[in-house]
Amino acid sequence: MTYRVLMLPGDHIGPEIVAEADKVLRCLADAFGLAVELEYANLGGCAVDAEGTPLPASTLGLARQADAALLGAVGGPEWDGLARERRPERGLLAIRAELGLFANLRPAILFPELAGASSLRPEVVSGLDILIVRELTGGIYFGDPRGIRERTDGVREGFNTLVYGADEIARIGQVAFAAAERRGGQLCSVDKANVLESSELWREVMTGLAPSHPGVELSHMYVDNAAMQLVRAPRQFDVMVTGNLFGDILSDCAAMLTGSIGMLPSASLDEQGFGLYEPVHGSAPDIAGQGKANPLATLLSVAMMLRHSLDEGDLADRVEQAVARVLASGLRTADLAAPGDSVTPTAAMGDAVVEALRAEAG
Ligand code: NAD
Repeated sequence: MTYRVLMLPGDHIGPEIVAEADKVLRCLADAFGLAVELEYANLGGCAVDAEGTPLPASTLGLARQADAALLGAVGGPEWDGLARERRPERGLLAIRAELGLFANLRPAILFPELAGASSLRPEVVSGLDILIVRELTGGIYFGDPRGIRERTDGVREGFNTLVYGADEIARIGQVAFAAAERRGGQLCSVDKANVLESSELWREVMTGLAPSHPGVELSHMYVDNAAMQLVRAPRQFDVMVTGNLFGDILSDCAAMLTGSIGMLPSASLDEQGFGLYEPVHGSAPDIAGQGKANPLATLLSVAMMLRHSLDEGDLADRVEQAVARVLASGLRTADLAAPGDSVTPTAAMGDAVVEALRAEAG
């Protein structure tokens, strides 16, 4: 079977980093027999310019036929003045919603060579390896009613609704338990059950899933404590599962523990295993076109794609090991370089990963 992968370079540094992912996927095809076909489409600002909308119907159609999609990043100041529905970021929200990508997986892994780049002391963070599983299509970001209205006393008020169905909680819970089974067997469910009814149900449903996963030890933590524990003793966590709003905040917090935004991959999955894979960072207009972008978050996103959508866990391991070897060899993009280090440009970093892969192929 040949896998179909849709490549969505997007804007600014997006095309630069996706070009490196293209090289890696072609190397896996040449050297390891990965049967993959790459197609390209527009999403974001480039789609607004070329086709008048951030998510063209043709892009969505290709995504529906693909086994997985890889996104660079979208957005930039030149599109900030557009009406909300034509902005690049709308394209991203729309593709997630259209494809039912309810499970967001964000690993925060600290490569030992980069321990010095973290804002925490190396002894607190070295060896960090957390996976945050965030519910992505429900909760307060999508709940109705919502809006801004005028109260009877004439004062305006903004309001949103935090709502989770037991089915939505169970669905994300299953993803998180399965991930914990594959990893260290620890799952921490994060909620605010002391205050919110939606969290009370969240906790009840998560607890109900536990007996079917005897290999996983489930714990519960309030979100305020979880935020504190993440910066106090982050290595206590293996997999964390939480709702959309809490996950948004906690995953960014965990991301910063690793030091560089240029190292963090992510996956957004549907119920059938299709996934949209993308680096956590944005389109970095400030460094676009200068060879300064770190492509490793995108290459680690390729590894996640191989593992979660293409059933090629062995190749996923190889890509991650190749990235680790390149870092161990001392190569650093500008964002990772310490003062005095020589700086490796984007394309050379991608080439180094390809070389490390080829060296393993023999
Ligand atoms: P950003 O993540 O693009 O950049 C923040 C800082 O990190 C910048 O200094 C940038 O140079 C640096 N950086 C980011 N990625 C890097 C990489 N791979 N290598 C080295 N340095 C890197 O966030 P921002 O500046 O707030 O947003 C820029 C644009 O990206 C905005 O239009 C925003 O809406 C969009 N955005 C898109 C996504 C997405 O596509 N998923 C996510 C976040 C922001």
